[in-house]
Amino acid sequence: MAEQHPETIAIRTQIERSQFLEHSNPLYLTSSYVFEDAEDMRASFADEKDRNIYSRYSNPNSSEFVDKVCQMEGAERGYSFASGMSAVFSTLSALLDAGDHIISSQSVFGSTQSLYNNVFPKWNIDVSYFQVNELDKMESLIQPNTKIIFAESPTNPAVDILDLELLGNIAKKHGILLLIDNCFATPYLQQPIKYGADLVIHSATKLMDGQGRVLGGVTVGREDLIEKIYRFSRITGPALSPFNAWVLSKSLETLPVRVDRHCENALKIAQFLESHEKVNLVKYPFLKSHPQYKLAKKQMKLGGSIVAFEVKGGIKAGRKFLNSIQLLSLSANLGDTRTIVTHPASTTHAKLTEEDRLLTGITGGLVRVSVGLEHTDDIIKDLKQALES
Ligand SMILES: *Cc1c(COP(=O)(O)O)cnc(C)c1O
Repeated sequence: MAEQHPETIAIRTQIERSQFLEHSNPLYLTSSYVFEDAEDMRASFADEKDRNIYSRYSNPNSSEFVDKVCQMEGAERGYSFASGMSAVFSTLSALLDAGDHIISSQSVFGSTQSLYNNVFPKWNIDVSYFQVNELDKMESLIQPNTKIIFAESPTNPAVDILDLELLGNIAKKHGILLLIDNCFATPYLQQPIKYGADLVIHSATKLMDGQGRVLGGVTVGREDLIEKIYRFSRITGPALSPFNAWVLSKSLETLPVRVDRHCENALKIAQFLESHEKVNLVKYPFLKSHPQYKLAKKQMKLGGSIVAFEVKGGIKAGRKFLNSIQLLSLSANLGDTRTIVTHPASTTHAKLTEEDRLLTGITGGLVRVSVGLEHTDDIIKDLKQALES
């Protein structure tokens, strides 16, 4: 059969039906599996059989979830985790040795930054940073012990776009692994493996769940790398729970329609904000005014669900704007059906120095909106009254 479209993969990929021939997939809430006899048990533990043994290793629900993500990303194999951060931590830890070096985009998720700052120094693992507008300087950061290039695109919270093809070429030329956190784009909008990424990481907590219910994470990509990550994770135990995997696999069935509407709404919100006199700057990948509009169009199907903008008047105005919001949520999540508004300078990025914040595009008045699925008239009404209050 010819390759299926993402909408079909997300709906029609499923594990084998049980003897009850259920239509919707059941939840396999079991920690372990039984063996036929001593020989079956021996062969299973010797990895001579492809079967479930214990849910820390694999479970039908997590296998189904991973299989869908692999097909959507064009990956050979994957493993699912209890959260996005356990995916990031386990993936990096499984691949790195003490004394290795990472090159990372300056703009990465806050907890990934904390891993670099607070955890990896224990193993003498160093990180060098590149700015999103300085990919040309990246090669000068490469050292003999550089093992991984790590990046996100679009970035959080400034919604900058990194050239995935360029990153893929640099990584390939120097024999370095390229890891992309594809959480903001989802596999529906962007497939980094096409551009040379060796592994793609997701926080499934965000748009994959899409309804703010469960935590989850997944890493997909090259078979040999996933084998290492799988072996590491079998021992260390960051496995996704079967229940969360079941929720996430179900959620993927609606990912394409949800993300289509998220993007349609986000573009409308971005256009509204751009026309408002109290707003300095709006960043949305599919707005013509975005500095990397062409690149975004090349590597993304649509512009995503996150809009960043700057309220005139700096940090005070940013906080006042948040205090005036009535309908929308002030919350730490994103990619939810509910529109969420955050003020990075006083919350997620408050611990950085102002200089470091500005390096990643976080000005005092920057507001991040994760545009949800409410009617855009209602979202705009709330944003408008908050801007004008
Ligand atoms: C949320 C997020 C993570 C971490 O995921 P959790 O599921 O919260 O652990 C990692 N990367 C990005 C880009 C995220 O938005």
